[in-house]
Amino acid sequence: MFDLEGKVALVTGGNGGIGLGMARGLAQAGATVILAGRDAAKSSSAVAALKAEGLQADAIEADVTDEASVQRLFAQAATRHGALHILVNNAGTNIRHPPHELRLEDWHTVLDTNLTAAFLCGRAAHAPMKAAGGGKVINIGSMMSIFGAPYAPAYGASKGGVVQLTRSQATAWAVDNIQANAVLPGWIDTDMTRKAREQVNGLHDRVLGRTPAARWGKASDLAGIAVFLASRASDFVTGTAIPVDGGYSIS
Ligand code: NDP
Repeated sequence: MFDLEGKVALVTGGNGGIGLGMARGLAQAGATVILAGRDAAKSSSAVAALKAEGLQADAIEADVTDEASVQRLFAQAATRHGALHILVNNAGTNIRHPPHELRLEDWHTVLDTNLTAAFLCGRAAHAPMKAAGGGKVINIGSMMSIFGAPYAPAYGASKGGVVQLTRSQATAWAVDNIQANAVLPGWIDTDMTRKAREQVNGLHDRVLGRTPAARWGKASDLAGIAVFLASRASDFVTGTAIPVDGGYSIS
């Protein structure tokens, strides 16, 4: 039910953090994973690490905010791997300022990376998934798809948008046997949140205090949900937004 042997998965931002945690899970379940990111050196060391574990991985350099770059990414993926069955829209960024201080260019950077890229990559994935007889789209939201934070207006808007984009993809593509779901990670220890802990006073302890699991998440905590949403096990699950948060959102 969870076997991904013979499946090809493209993970944006798959060269580090949550993306790499999910990519590793998909590859351990049998998929060939394509890691798409801007930093070629980071991508090739992630591919080397996965291959050293006996997993199948490839990297393609891409800026997912750029329409032409996304087109090249999917064209190269098709040339090298033939088919596409799974897309994880994980690439993301945050620029932290209150709404009255955020610059328009920073707003655009965050919206383009977190939301527009998921639209562009989803659009590019539709035809190959339909040709393969179906597919799985996994969009990464956030606790800020649900909650507000005074320092994250663009991030919150983008992650709220990811949930609504997911619902639109799910309803439009059900007829093509493509399921689209969002994952809402809680607080996970990655480069992004290491920076947040430097920038937001008291964040580390506030998260610990509110998370019933009483710990920060690890990138590997996202592997299980990725495999579930990428596999036959979730064929009747679509349009959902699933928290993976150690209970943060219910406490
Ligand atoms: P990281 O900063 O570790 O990873 C972000 C990844 O996105 C990098 O691999 C980066 O690769 C890639 N990326 C950023 N911009 C682009 C771009 N323009 N084109 C292609 N790739 C890009 O962060 P996380 O692992 O923490 O975050 C991953 C996702 O999870 C994000 O969507 C984030 O919002 C979300 N999330 C994270 C949480 C957490 O607690 N960590 C909580 C909730 C959600 P490169 O630099 O090579 O381009």
